[in-house]
Amino acid sequence: MSEHMKREPIARPLIFEIGAPESRCVEAPPLDVADIDLSQVLGGSARATRPRLPHVTEGEIARHYEHLASVNFGVDSGFYPLGSCTMKYNPKIDEWACRLPGFAGAHPYQPEQTVQGALGLMYGLQEALGEISGLPAVTLQPAAGAHGELTALMVIRAHHVSNGDARKRVIIPDAAHGTNPATVAMCGYTVTQVPSNERGGVDLDALAAALDTDVAAIMLTNPNTLGLFDENIVEITRMVHDVGALAYCDGANLNAIMGKVRPGDMGFDAMHINLHKTFATPHGGGGPGSGPVCVTETLASFLPSPIVVHDGAGAYALSTPEHSIGRVKAFLGNFGVLVRAYTYIRALGAEGITEVSEQAVLSANYLKEKLKSAFELPYDRVCMHEFVLSGSRQRKANGVRTLDMAKRLLDHGVHPPTIYFPLIVDEAIMIEPTETESLETLDRFVDAMLAIAREAEENPDLLHDAPYTTPVRRLDEAKAVKEPDLAWKPAT
Ligand SMILES: *Cc1c(COP(=O)(O)O)cnc(C)c1O
Repeated sequence: MSEHMKREPIARPLIFEIGAPESRCVEAPPLDVADIDLSQVLGGSARATRPRLPHVTEGEIARHYEHLASVNFGVDSGFYPLGSCTMKYNPKIDEWACRLPGFAGAHPYQPEQTVQGALGLMYGLQEALGEISGLPAVTLQPAAGAHGELTALMVIRAHHVSNGDARKRVIIPDAAHGTNPATVAMCGYTVTQVPSNERGGVDLDALAAALDTDVAAIMLTNPNTLGLFDENIVEITRMVHDVGALAYCDGANLNAIMGKVRPGDMGFDAMHINLHKTFATPHGGGGPGSGPVCVTETLASFLPSPIVVHDGAGAYALSTPEHSIGRVKAFLGNFGVLVRAYTYIRALGAEGITEVSEQAVLSANYLKEKLKSAFELPYDRVCMHEFVLSGSRQRKANGVRTLDMAKRLLDHGVHPPTIYFPLIVDEAIMIEPTETESLETLDRFVDAMLAIAREAEENPDLLHDAPYTTPVRRLDEAKAVKEPDLAWKPAT
């Protein structure tokens, strides 16, 4: 591999290792308030020495951040079929809208009458999400999908408690996203897991056996994390309601169905929506995101405060629902993400939203059909916006693991799919192309995957050492998770 090693860039100095004491990016204006001695205020907590911050010029700091951006991989650098994450292209008009000074500069403590435009946008988004989900009462507060799950489960619990009904369990299928059981535990419920059937849906007999009046809710993703639409969904929500439990939809996969079917019409009582996935906010790397929760009229009075209401005469106001579970987020949620989502929805309109899900499903099925001869396809049926292959054939025949193939994709300039999830598929490779990729890009991905399948047979060691062209190569991932060392220490 030595010819590859030569291609590795020579390490550049860190921002802390360059600069000179007199270098400055900015000059602070002269003090216009009284100078105070911080050690008087902070007492023993005041630091004794100055922090060793870099002293660099504006040009040096610009290069620093440009470089960091260039070694990162994003949807604007290449194909990013990371299953379950909906890494679609984010239209730049959404970025334009959320940077408009009236939105970007609004202060959360401004009086309501001075932020009517912002409140009107939030009201319009509540209405649109209520329409798309079929669940008319909406809160925009939660900061992400997992936070939306927790909020919705708290709403469901408040509903049961108001009926004097202390239920203890929440049912989750074995294909569920990891945040679902975590949410259940955080909410003080216990998880009852039900297996999937051979078609990848919920096993109805197992569900019937798990259901009784101790069950507070079922949490379901539909389509689920296998990318499969549960054909029995109406039967499932009916069975759940029959024991007085509620049905919660993890709506992270809304990109597959919006404009086509509505979770409210499937019998769900509550759902969250990942605005940063379905409605085009750049994500990955930690946020900010937004996970609005939509519920039935029955649950509306339990929603967190505040929600935006309209008085019918042109004025918007913040309001606290009658039996509100209280606040789940400071101020009004991650407002910039709300502006992007509203812009995205208005730019596409009802027809465009429907076309998004149609194209997302078409792209996934196209890839599935092109790849299913080279890799195992555990559930061979029409998929929704994503599908799950297995690398088990390559592992058994060639000793090549899914991880090796994922790493090799980096040399093709493709972000690897989600791997080893969902847990019920051995050597899982979970592919979500999204609606925003051209046929040429999809075909290039097929070529890359088929080339890797050939390499697995002909030269497995090549894959064990991949990638060859990235700034860093194989990392000790366990060490990075268990013993992260992110602090720079001076050489002295
Ligand atoms: C992404 C995702 C979540 C969690 O959403 P976050 O915004 O990352 O908290 C939950 N369920 C499914 C199926 C997801 O794909």
